[in-house]
Amino acid sequence: MRRPILAANWKMQKTRAEAEDFVEKLLPLIEATDAVDVVIAPPFTALDRVAEVLRGSRVALAAQNVNPEEQGAFTGEVAPRMLADLGCAYAIVGHSERRGLYGESDGFIASKAGALLACDIRPIVCVGETLDERDAGKTFDVVSSQLAGSLARVPDDRADQVVVAYEPVWAIGTGKTATPEIAQEVHGFVRSQLVDRFGPSGEQMRIQYGGSVKPDNVDALMAQPDIDGALVGGASLQPDTFARIVRFQPPGGAS
Ligand code: PEP
Repeated sequence: MRRPILAANWKMQKTRAEAEDFVEKLLPLIEATDAVDVVIAPPFTALDRVAEVLRGSRVALAAQNVNPEEQGAFTGEVAPRMLADLGCAYAIVGHSERRGLYGESDGFIASKAGALLACDIRPIVCVGETLDERDAGKTFDVVSSQLAGSLARVPDDRADQVVVAYEPVWAIGTGKTATPEIAQEVHGFVRSQLVDRFGPSGEQMRIQYGGSVKPDNVDALMAQPDIDGALVGGASLQPDTFARIVRFQPPGGAS
């Protein structure tokens, strides 16, 4: 049994006061939901404030990025041990916005994932194809090569601490969610790649879907056998919509 993991990626949104207000409203709404992992990734500037408000709750803190170096002359960057110091349990790496807008390569993403694990922070490693790649029939090739490259520095015995997020680029922030069947097809493929690479641990690794997840589509997505959670952008900005996503209804009963 893989424990579901629902994560909010706020991107470059929310001041400290707005972040604090969100968390204060969210916590009572998800109080009764203890069978899932909930993660919030605020911008760096709000990590400390959110950490304070989350103290004593079951919600984990995540960073949206990291630099793989330990320390040094890297202006504007943030090192893994700084994130550990703030209480981050997770960090997102390889988001398509970073791959696309900032040219991040699989090798760089692999270094980040390895450096995070060395500081006991769980990487959420994002992969996913563009619309052109999907239309050209290259989805599996792209995802397979991103997985191989981005997970290259994950030691076999740490694989179960890694979360993979399959986020088709054409579904991010567009309102076009992959149907549960399309998402499951790729998740099943990702699962097989993880098992090939890590053996039985690949069955334990959680695979999130990301791309316009909302209260009205989360239940059907989460009902798929290889969808273990969601990485949520737009719909994670309001406490009530994100709370409904956290309280997704599993097939045959309430969570
Ligand atoms: C994301 O940024 O990872 C994401 C999936 O965004 P959205 O939910 O807005 O599509």
